[in-house]
Amino acid sequence: MKYNITCIPGDGIGPEIVNAAKNVLNTVGKKFGHEFVFKDILMGGASIDVHGIPLTDEAIADAKSADAVLMGSIGGDTNTSPWYKLEPSKRPEAGLLKIRKELKLFANLRPAVLFDDLSDACVLKKETSDRGFDLIIVRELTGGLYFGERKTFEENGVRTAIDTLKYDETEIKRIAVKAFEIAKKRRCKVTSVDKANVLDSSRLWRAVVNEVSKDYPEVKLEHMLVDNCAMQLVKDPGQFDVILTENMFGDILSDEASMITGSIGMLASASLNETKFGLYEPSHGSAPDIAGMDIANPIATILSAAMMLRFSFDLNKEADAIETAVKKVLSQGIRTKDIAISGEATVGCKKMGELIAENI
Ligand code: NAD
Repeated sequence: MKYNITCIPGDGIGPEIVNAAKNVLNTVGKKFGHEFVFKDILMGGASIDVHGIPLTDEAIADAKSADAVLMGSIGGDTNTSPWYKLEPSKRPEAGLLKIRKELKLFANLRPAVLFDDLSDACVLKKETSDRGFDLIIVRELTGGLYFGERKTFEENGVRTAIDTLKYDETEIKRIAVKAFEIAKKRRCKVTSVDKANVLDSSRLWRAVVNEVSKDYPEVKLEHMLVDNCAMQLVKDPGQFDVILTENMFGDILSDEASMITGSIGMLASASLNETKFGLYEPSHGSAPDIAGMDIANPIATILSAAMMLRFSFDLNKEADAIETAVKKVLSQGIRTKDIAISGEATVGCKKMGELIAENI
Protein backbone atom coordinates (compact mmCIF):
# COMPACT_ATOMS: atom_id res chain seq x y z
CA MET A 1 0.00 0.00 0.00
CA LYS A 2 1.08 3.60 -0.67
CA TYR A 3 1.20 6.23 2.09
CA ASN A 4 1.79 9.95 1.51
CA ILE A 5 3.79 11.56 4.29
CA THR A 6 4.36 15.29 4.48
CA CYS A 7 7.68 15.95 6.22
CA ILE A 8 8.66 19.10 8.06
CA PRO A 9 12.44 18.91 8.53
CA GLY A 10 12.34 22.36 10.19
CA ASP A 11 15.37 23.96 11.81
CA GLY A 12 18.52 23.03 13.73
CA ILE A 13 18.95 19.26 13.94
CA GLY A 14 15.50 18.79 12.30
CA PRO A 15 16.74 17.90 8.78
CA GLU A 16 19.30 15.38 10.16
CA ILE A 17 16.84 13.50 12.38
CA VAL A 18 14.06 13.50 9.76
CA ASN A 19 16.47 12.05 7.17
CA ALA A 20 17.37 9.25 9.58
CA ALA A 21 13.66 8.49 10.13
CA LYS A 22 12.93 8.51 6.37
CA ASN A 23 15.75 6.01 5.86
CA VAL A 24 14.21 3.69 8.49
CA LEU A 25 10.73 4.05 6.95
CA ASN A 26 12.11 3.21 3.48
CA THR A 27 13.61 0.02 4.92
CA VAL A 28 10.29 -0.87 6.56
CA GLY A 29 8.58 -0.21 3.23
CA LYS A 30 10.93 -2.59 1.37
CA LYS A 31 10.64 -5.32 3.97
CA PHE A 32 6.85 -5.22 4.41
CA GLY A 33 5.82 -4.22 0.87
CA HIS A 34 4.64 -0.62 1.41
CA GLU A 35 5.53 2.56 -0.40
CA PHE A 36 6.12 5.69 1.66
CA VAL A 37 6.08 8.83 -0.48
CA PHE A 38 7.65 11.86 1.21
CA LYS A 39 7.02 15.51 0.41
CA ASP A 40 8.98 18.13 2.37
CA ILE A 41 7.46 21.45 3.37
CA LEU A 42 9.05 24.45 5.08
CA MET A 43 8.01 25.55 8.53
CA GLY A 44 9.54 27.67 11.29
CA GLY A 45 12.79 29.51 10.66
CA ALA A 46 13.38 27.67 7.38
CA SER A 47 10.10 29.12 6.05
CA ILE A 48 10.82 32.60 7.46
CA ASP A 49 14.13 32.66 5.56
CA VAL A 50 12.41 31.86 2.25
CA HIS A 51 8.88 33.31 2.56
CA GLY A 52 9.14 35.80 5.44
CA ILE A 53 6.47 33.90 7.44
CA PRO A 54 6.75 30.67 9.48
CA LEU A 55 4.07 28.74 7.57
CA THR A 56 2.47 29.40 4.18
CA ASP A 57 -1.07 28.47 3.10
CA GLU A 58 0.48 26.22 0.46
CA ALA A 59 2.42 24.29 3.12
CA ILE A 60 -0.76 23.90 5.19
CA ALA A 61 -2.57 22.54 2.12
CA ASP A 62 0.27 20.04 1.54
CA ALA A 63 0.04 18.88 5.16
CA LYS A 64 -3.74 18.50 4.96
CA SER A 65 -3.56 16.46 1.77
CA ALA A 66 -1.14 13.88 3.27
CA ASP A 67 -1.96 10.69 5.20
CA ALA A 68 0.20 11.92 8.10
CA VAL A 69 2.85 14.51 8.94
CA LEU A 70 6.34 13.73 10.26
CA MET A 71 8.21 16.62 11.79
CA GLY A 72 11.74 17.24 13.05
CA SER A 73 11.71 20.38 15.13
CA ILE A 74 11.51 24.12 14.58
CA GLY A 75 13.10 27.18 16.14
CA GLY A 76 16.56 28.57 16.71
CA ASP A 77 18.60 29.98 19.55
CA THR A 78 16.04 32.31 21.15
CA ASN A 79 18.78 34.68 22.38
CA THR A 80 20.77 35.10 19.18
CA SER A 81 18.64 34.11 16.17
CA PRO A 82 17.22 37.00 14.08
CA TRP A 83 13.92 35.04 13.89
CA TYR A 84 13.24 36.14 17.49
CA LYS A 85 13.53 39.85 16.64
CA LEU A 86 10.30 39.49 14.60
CA GLU A 87 6.91 40.15 16.14
CA PRO A 88 5.54 37.03 17.95
CA SER A 89 3.07 36.12 15.17
CA LYS A 90 5.95 35.85 12.66
CA ARG A 91 8.35 33.79 14.81
CA PRO A 92 9.04 30.06 14.19
CA GLU A 93 6.71 28.79 16.98
CA ALA A 94 3.75 30.63 15.43
CA GLY A 95 4.00 28.15 12.54
CA LEU A 96 3.69 25.22 14.92
CA LEU A 97 0.66 26.67 16.70
CA LYS A 98 -0.96 27.41 13.35
CA ILE A 99 -0.46 23.95 11.88
CA ARG A 100 -1.80 22.29 15.06
CA LYS A 101 -4.92 24.47 14.80
CA GLU A 102 -5.37 23.97 11.05
CA LEU A 103 -5.05 20.20 11.38
CA LYS A 104 -7.46 20.19 14.38
CA LEU A 105 -5.05 18.18 16.51
CA PHE A 106 -6.79 17.76 19.87
CA ALA A 107 -5.08 14.67 21.30
CA ASN A 108 -1.43 14.73 22.33
CA LEU A 109 0.29 11.42 22.98
CA ARG A 110 3.58 11.33 24.87
CA PRO A 111 5.05 7.91 25.64
CA ALA A 112 7.62 7.61 28.44
CA VAL A 113 9.52 4.36 28.16
CA LEU A 114 12.55 3.26 30.13
CA PHE A 115 14.69 1.10 27.85
CA ASP A 116 16.45 -1.68 29.81
CA ASP A 117 19.81 -0.72 28.37
CA LEU A 118 19.41 2.93 29.38
CA SER A 119 18.12 2.35 32.90
CA ASP A 120 21.27 4.01 34.29
CA ALA A 121 20.00 7.32 32.81
CA CYS A 122 16.78 7.07 34.87
CA VAL A 123 16.74 9.66 37.63
CA LEU A 124 14.70 7.47 40.00
CA LYS A 125 15.96 5.09 42.69
CA LYS A 126 17.58 1.96 41.28
CA GLU A 127 14.95 -0.36 42.76
CA THR A 128 12.29 1.67 40.88
CA SER A 129 14.18 1.87 37.59
CA ASP A 130 14.95 -1.87 37.79
CA ARG A 131 11.19 -2.52 37.64
CA GLY A 132 11.03 -0.47 34.37
CA PHE A 133 8.09 1.45 32.94
CA ASP A 134 6.30 1.93 29.64
CA LEU A 135 3.47 4.45 29.83
CA ILE A 136 1.77 6.92 27.53
CA ILE A 137 0.11 10.19 28.46
CA VAL A 138 -2.97 11.10 26.41
CA ARG A 139 -3.47 14.84 26.90
CA GLU A 140 -6.39 16.96 25.70
CA LEU A 141 -4.74 19.71 23.66
CA THR A 142 -7.30 22.30 22.59
CA GLY A 143 -9.51 23.03 25.62
CA GLY A 144 -9.34 23.82 29.32
CA LEU A 145 -7.49 26.61 31.05
CA TYR A 146 -5.17 27.49 28.14
CA PHE A 147 -8.09 28.28 25.82
CA GLY A 148 -10.70 29.62 28.25
CA GLU A 149 -11.70 33.26 28.63
CA ARG A 150 -9.19 35.34 30.55
CA LYS A 151 -8.81 38.91 31.67
CA THR A 152 -6.67 41.13 33.86
CA PHE A 153 -8.28 44.08 35.58
CA GLU A 154 -8.14 46.33 38.60
CA GLU A 155 -10.67 46.03 41.40
CA ASN A 156 -10.57 48.70 44.07
CA GLY A 157 -7.00 49.48 43.04
CA VAL A 158 -5.92 45.82 43.28
CA ARG A 159 -4.60 44.12 40.13
CA THR A 160 -6.60 40.94 39.51
CA ALA A 161 -6.54 38.25 36.82
CA ILE A 162 -9.00 35.49 35.87
CA ASP A 163 -8.51 32.38 33.72
CA THR A 164 -11.40 30.08 32.93
CA LEU A 165 -11.20 26.28 32.89
CA LYS A 166 -14.05 25.07 30.71
CA TYR A 167 -14.75 21.65 29.18
CA ASP A 168 -17.91 20.39 27.55
CA GLU A 169 -18.85 16.74 27.39
CA THR A 170 -18.08 16.38 23.66
CA GLU A 171 -14.48 17.51 24.21
CA ILE A 172 -14.06 15.07 27.10
CA LYS A 173 -15.71 12.20 25.25
CA ARG A 174 -13.53 12.41 22.12
CA ILE A 175 -10.25 12.41 24.08
CA ALA A 176 -11.50 9.62 26.37
CA VAL A 177 -12.36 7.50 23.32
CA LYS A 178 -8.81 8.02 21.99
CA ALA A 179 -7.34 6.90 25.35
CA PHE A 180 -9.47 3.75 25.53
CA GLU A 181 -8.72 2.86 21.91
CA ILE A 182 -4.98 3.24 22.60
CA ALA A 183 -5.25 1.18 25.80
CA LYS A 184 -6.85 -1.62 23.75
CA LYS A 185 -3.65 -1.75 21.67
CA ARG A 186 -1.49 -1.83 24.83
CA ARG A 187 -2.01 -3.34 28.30
CA CYS A 188 -5.71 -2.41 28.61
CA LYS A 189 -5.53 0.02 31.52
CA VAL A 190 -6.57 3.70 31.65
CA THR A 191 -5.79 5.98 34.59
CA SER A 192 -7.92 9.10 34.25
CA VAL A 193 -6.35 12.02 36.10
CA ASP A 194 -8.37 14.96 37.42
CA LYS A 195 -8.97 17.14 40.47
CA ALA A 196 -12.53 15.99 41.09
CA ASN A 197 -12.31 16.71 44.83
CA VAL A 198 -12.25 20.45 43.99
CA LEU A 199 -13.15 21.30 40.39
CA ASP A 200 -16.54 21.06 38.66
CA SER A 201 -14.80 20.59 35.30
CA SER A 202 -13.04 17.53 36.80
CA ARG A 203 -16.30 16.11 38.15
CA LEU A 204 -17.80 16.34 34.64
CA TRP A 205 -14.56 14.84 33.26
CA ARG A 206 -14.88 11.86 35.61
CA ALA A 207 -18.58 11.31 34.82
CA VAL A 208 -18.01 11.37 31.04
CA VAL A 209 -14.94 9.09 31.26
CA ASN A 210 -17.07 6.61 33.28
CA GLU A 211 -19.73 6.70 30.54
CA VAL A 212 -17.18 6.13 27.76
CA SER A 213 -15.62 3.24 29.70
CA LYS A 214 -18.88 1.26 29.41
CA ASP A 215 -18.05 0.75 25.70
CA TYR A 216 -14.67 -0.74 26.64
CA PRO A 217 -15.34 -3.53 29.16
CA GLU A 218 -11.94 -5.09 28.38
CA VAL A 219 -10.11 -1.93 29.56
CA LYS A 220 -9.62 -1.42 33.32
CA LEU A 221 -10.36 2.18 34.36
CA GLU A 222 -9.11 3.90 37.47
CA HIS A 223 -9.37 7.55 38.55
CA MET A 224 -6.52 9.38 40.23
CA LEU A 225 -6.19 12.91 41.57
CA VAL A 226 -3.53 14.93 39.76
CA ASP A 227 -1.47 15.62 42.90
CA ASN A 228 -1.35 11.91 43.67
CA CYS A 229 -0.44 11.14 40.02
CA ALA A 230 2.51 13.55 40.19
CA MET A 231 3.77 11.61 43.23
CA GLN A 232 3.05 8.15 41.81
CA LEU A 233 5.01 8.98 38.63
CA VAL A 234 8.21 9.27 40.64
CA LYS A 235 7.34 6.57 43.18
CA ASP A 236 6.07 3.77 40.95
CA PRO A 237 5.73 4.69 37.23
CA GLY A 238 5.48 0.98 36.34
CA GLN A 239 1.85 0.96 37.58
CA PHE A 240 0.70 3.11 34.60
CA ASP A 241 -0.28 2.09 31.09
CA VAL A 242 -2.39 4.94 29.60
CA ILE A 243 -2.76 8.18 31.57
CA LEU A 244 -5.71 10.23 30.31
CA THR A 245 -5.89 13.86 31.34
CA GLU A 246 -6.89 17.42 30.48
CA ASN A 247 -4.71 20.09 28.94
CA MET A 248 -2.85 21.75 31.82
CA PHE A 249 -2.48 18.64 33.98
CA GLY A 250 -1.18 16.83 30.87
CA ASP A 251 1.28 19.61 30.08
CA ILE A 252 2.89 19.27 33.51
CA LEU A 253 2.65 15.48 33.92
CA SER A 254 4.04 14.73 30.44
CA ASP A 255 7.16 16.78 31.15
CA GLU A 256 7.53 15.05 34.51
CA ALA A 257 7.12 11.62 32.89
CA SER A 258 9.66 12.38 30.17
CA MET A 259 12.25 13.67 32.64
CA ILE A 260 12.22 10.46 34.69
CA THR A 261 13.51 8.52 31.67
CA GLY A 262 16.58 10.79 31.70
CA SER A 263 17.12 10.77 27.92
CA ILE A 264 15.59 13.68 25.97
CA GLY A 265 16.76 12.30 22.62
CA MET A 266 14.60 9.17 23.03
CA LEU A 267 11.14 10.67 23.56
CA ALA A 268 8.59 10.46 20.76
CA SER A 269 5.22 12.21 20.51
CA ALA A 270 2.09 12.38 18.39
CA SER A 271 -0.82 14.80 18.03
CA LEU A 272 -3.99 13.37 16.51
CA ASN A 273 -7.27 14.71 15.18
CA GLU A 274 -10.68 13.04 15.13
CA THR A 275 -9.74 10.81 12.17
CA LYS A 276 -6.59 8.70 12.08
CA PHE A 277 -4.56 11.68 10.86
CA GLY A 278 -1.68 12.83 13.05
CA LEU A 279 1.44 14.95 13.33
CA TYR A 280 4.41 13.02 14.72
CA GLU A 281 7.48 14.67 16.20
CA PRO A 282 10.16 14.17 18.84
CA SER A 283 9.45 15.78 22.22
CA HIS A 284 12.70 17.70 22.15
CA GLY A 285 13.46 20.95 20.35
CA SER A 286 15.72 21.83 17.42
CA ALA A 287 18.94 21.74 19.51
CA PRO A 288 20.65 24.62 17.64
CA ASP A 289 23.76 24.07 19.80
CA ILE A 290 24.51 20.79 17.97
CA ALA A 291 22.89 21.46 14.56
CA GLY A 292 24.84 20.29 11.51
CA MET A 293 27.38 18.35 13.60
CA ASP A 294 25.91 14.88 12.95
CA ILE A 295 25.81 14.11 16.69
CA ALA A 296 22.05 14.43 17.37
CA ASN A 297 20.15 11.38 18.57
CA PRO A 298 17.56 10.47 15.89
CA ILE A 299 15.78 7.83 18.02
CA ALA A 300 12.93 10.11 19.25
CA THR A 301 12.08 10.91 15.63
CA ILE A 302 12.42 7.28 14.54
CA LEU A 303 10.12 6.21 17.39
CA SER A 304 7.70 8.99 16.36
CA ALA A 305 7.67 7.43 12.88
CA ALA A 306 6.81 4.08 14.54
CA MET A 307 3.89 5.81 16.28
CA MET A 308 2.76 7.11 12.89
CA LEU A 309 2.69 3.57 11.50
CA ARG A 310 0.72 2.34 14.54
CA PHE A 311 -1.78 5.14 15.04
CA SER A 312 -2.33 6.62 11.56
CA PHE A 313 -1.76 3.59 9.32
CA ASP A 314 -2.65 0.65 11.62
CA LEU A 315 0.68 -0.98 10.69
CA ASN A 316 1.32 -2.58 14.07
CA LYS A 317 3.81 -5.26 12.95
CA GLU A 318 5.84 -2.62 11.15
CA ALA A 319 5.80 -0.31 14.21
CA ASP A 320 6.90 -3.24 16.40
CA ALA A 321 9.76 -3.89 13.96
CA ILE A 322 11.09 -0.33 14.40
CA GLU A 323 10.77 -0.45 18.20
CA THR A 324 12.51 -3.83 18.33
CA ALA A 325 15.31 -2.56 16.06
CA VAL A 326 15.88 0.40 18.40
CA LYS A 327 16.07 -1.97 21.40
CA LYS A 328 18.48 -4.27 19.52
CA VAL A 329 20.83 -1.43 18.62
CA LEU A 330 20.82 -0.21 22.23
CA SER A 331 21.48 -3.71 23.51
CA GLN A 332 24.50 -3.89 21.17
CA GLY A 333 25.90 -0.93 23.12
CA ILE A 334 25.52 1.51 20.23
CA ARG A 335 25.06 5.06 21.54
CA THR A 336 24.85 8.63 20.32
CA LYS A 337 26.73 11.16 22.43
CA ASP A 338 23.71 12.21 24.54
CA ILE A 339 23.03 8.68 25.85
CA ALA A 340 26.63 7.49 26.18
CA ILE A 341 28.34 7.33 29.53
CA SER A 342 31.67 9.09 29.61
CA GLY A 343 34.43 7.23 27.78
CA GLU A 344 31.96 5.10 25.75
CA ALA A 345 32.39 5.06 21.94
CA THR A 346 29.63 6.89 20.07
CA VAL A 347 28.11 6.99 16.59
CA GLY A 348 26.67 9.98 14.72
CA CYS A 349 23.06 10.72 13.85
CA LYS A 350 23.26 9.30 10.32
CA LYS A 351 25.03 6.11 11.45
CA MET A 352 22.55 5.51 14.27
CA GLY A 353 19.71 5.75 11.71
CA GLU A 354 21.49 3.34 9.37
CA LEU A 355 22.16 0.81 12.14
CA ILE A 356 18.50 0.88 13.23
CA ALA A 357 17.44 0.40 9.59
CA GLU A 358 19.83 -2.57 9.26
CA ASN A 359 18.17 -4.18 12.27
CA ILE A 360 14.62 -3.98 10.84
P1 NAD B 1 16.12 21.49 22.94
O1 NAD B 1 15.26 20.32 23.24
O2 NAD B 1 16.29 21.85 21.51
O3 NAD B 1 17.58 21.25 23.55
C1 NAD B 1 17.84 21.07 24.95
C2 NAD B 1 19.18 20.33 25.11
O4 NAD B 1 19.00 18.96 24.72
C3 NAD B 1 20.29 20.89 24.22
O5 NAD B 1 21.50 20.80 24.91
C4 NAD B 1 20.32 19.97 23.02
O6 NAD B 1 21.58 19.86 22.40
C5 NAD B 1 19.87 18.64 23.65
N1 NAD B 1 19.12 17.81 22.69
C6 NAD B 1 17.83 18.01 22.28
N2 NAD B 1 17.50 17.07 21.40
C7 NAD B 1 18.56 16.27 21.24
C8 NAD B 1 18.82 15.13 20.43
N3 NAD B 1 17.92 14.61 19.59
N4 NAD B 1 20.05 14.55 20.51
C9 NAD B 1 20.99 15.06 21.34
N5 NAD B 1 20.80 16.13 22.12
C10 NAD B 1 19.61 16.73 22.07
O7 NAD B 1 15.55 22.72 23.76
P2 NAD B 1 15.95 24.26 23.69
O8 NAD B 1 17.44 24.41 23.55
O9 NAD B 1 15.28 24.87 24.86
O10 NAD B 1 15.22 24.83 22.41
C11 NAD B 1 15.87 25.02 21.16
C12 NAD B 1 14.85 25.49 20.14
O11 NAD B 1 13.89 24.46 19.92
C13 NAD B 1 14.06 26.73 20.60
O12 NAD B 1 13.89 27.58 19.49
C14 NAD B 1 12.73 26.15 21.02
O13 NAD B 1 11.67 27.09 20.90
C15 NAD B 1 12.58 25.02 20.01
N6 NAD B 1 11.63 23.95 20.42
C16 NAD B 1 10.86 23.45 19.43
C17 NAD B 1 9.98 22.43 19.72
C18 NAD B 1 9.13 21.88 18.60
O14 NAD B 1 9.44 22.10 17.45
N7 NAD B 1 8.07 21.14 18.90
C19 NAD B 1 9.91 21.88 21.01
C20 NAD B 1 10.76 22.41 22.00
C21 NAD B 1 11.63 23.45 21.69
